[in-house]
Amino acid sequence: MIPLIDRDICTGCENCIEVCPPSAISMQDGKAYIDGEFCEECGFCASNCPADAIKIEFPLLYP
Ligand code: SF4
Ligand code: SF4
Repeated sequence: MIPLIDRDICTGCENCIEVCPPSAISMQDGKAYIDGEFCEECGFCASNCPADAIKIEFPLLYP
């Protein structure tokens, strides 16, 4: 799943940009933005966000 960034929580620290292997994240109006076309769904951005602004929603096995 491509991560979702909560723009209200994102502080614009750019940590996620530095750890994203395919450089799929950029800054837009001071907040992080993920280009889904390039995201490889590794989750590094979410685990390296100090503000916990990036969420990955896993599909439910037993909906
Ligand atoms: S999940 Fe991985 S590839 Fe996708 S935006 Fe985050 S760090 Fe980049
Ligand atoms: S690491 Fe988190 S707080 Fe920092 S720019 Fe990325 S989404 Fe925003």
